[in-house]
Amino acid sequence: MKAWEKNIRKVVPYVPGEQPQLEKMIKLNTNENPYPPSPKVMETRDKIENLRLYPDPMVSKLVNAIAGYHGLEPEQVFVGVGSDDVLAMAFLTFFNSEKPILFPDITYSFYDVWAELYKIPYKQPELDENFRIRKEDYMEENGGVIFPNPNAPTGVYENLDFIESILKANQDVIVIIDEAYIDFGGTSALELLPKYENLLVVRTFSKSRSMAGMRIGYAMGNKELIQALNVVKHSYNSYTMNQPSICMGVASIEDEEYFKDKVEKIIATREQFKKDLAELGFSFPDSKSNFVFATHKTAKAKDIFEAAKKEGIFLRYFNQPKIDNYLRISIGTEEEMKALVAFFKSYLNQ
Ligand code: PMP
Repeated sequence: MKAWEKNIRKVVPYVPGEQPQLEKMIKLNTNENPYPPSPKVMETRDKIENLRLYPDPMVSKLVNAIAGYHGLEPEQVFVGVGSDDVLAMAFLTFFNSEKPILFPDITYSFYDVWAELYKIPYKQPELDENFRIRKEDYMEENGGVIFPNPNAPTGVYENLDFIESILKANQDVIVIIDEAYIDFGGTSALELLPKYENLLVVRTFSKSRSMAGMRIGYAMGNKELIQALNVVKHSYNSYTMNQPSICMGVASIEDEEYFKDKVEKIIATREQFKKDLAELGFSFPDSKSNFVFATHKTAKAKDIFEAAKKEGIFLRYFNQPKIDNYLRISIGTEEEMKALVAFFKSYLNQ
């Protein structure tokens, strides 16, 4: 080993789902929205001006729009380049204890990467046999808590009483609820914000708002937490949010009708897909997100995953203990899900 190699930061990076560059495919592997963003978002494209200038470092227009939408003060909202950026910033800002932060063993697989990157000690309590978080595991001393609700890749949602009991037991640390998928079914922890000053709720425009390509995420919390995030962000890079993202994000927020319509459509497609899956011999924890985490009674997940890929159907498979016989299947359009069900029928000879 060369002497300088010792000083290189060692980290095993997060591996995102495949982004195949095919013209025709059914892409159900990265929980994107199958519908385009609101036409109003696309209209702003022609109105984007002043690319010559730096964007507003405070991202005020988008912050104001998000705050208005959720009935918060602008000082309670922090915007970043996708929720990955917001979460990475939150890890850096809030998780600075010698005690381990806590998150489930089966969850969004970026959390342990950030913990490693920033050298944050962490513990991953096991989910129970139904992929539920065991509350008791989060009652011990810790340096912070984070989990998605609904959880990923399981789709399992915990109600507000559950979230509140975790908050009650962890008032000395920051508790982050990652609500990337909350629009597809659950009740947001936002209503707990007035009661818990240590709560940070993180959201994204990537799923329910069909804007994964734009990279917009945000955090909501009390003014002190948001201020702390801003201090760290402005010690790092002030201009993360580009001008087009800011304009298009505002336009998305302004088109509530389109947003609701598409979310409802995805929920309806998901509920039908659950019935189809059950008839085909799959089982799955009940999902409140835009994906279903399913295992088949006889066919191996890895084999199904590979056979589907040959047909141009992309699903997500995690070669990881406990979940290596599961497939995470994003909810596409009705037609896409029908095509997937037809593929399953023929693959399973049903
Ligand atoms: N949190 C969870 C639980 C996710 O599944 C994802 C999507 N990979 C993200 C955060 C990040 O999404 P984005 O950066 O696109 O907002």
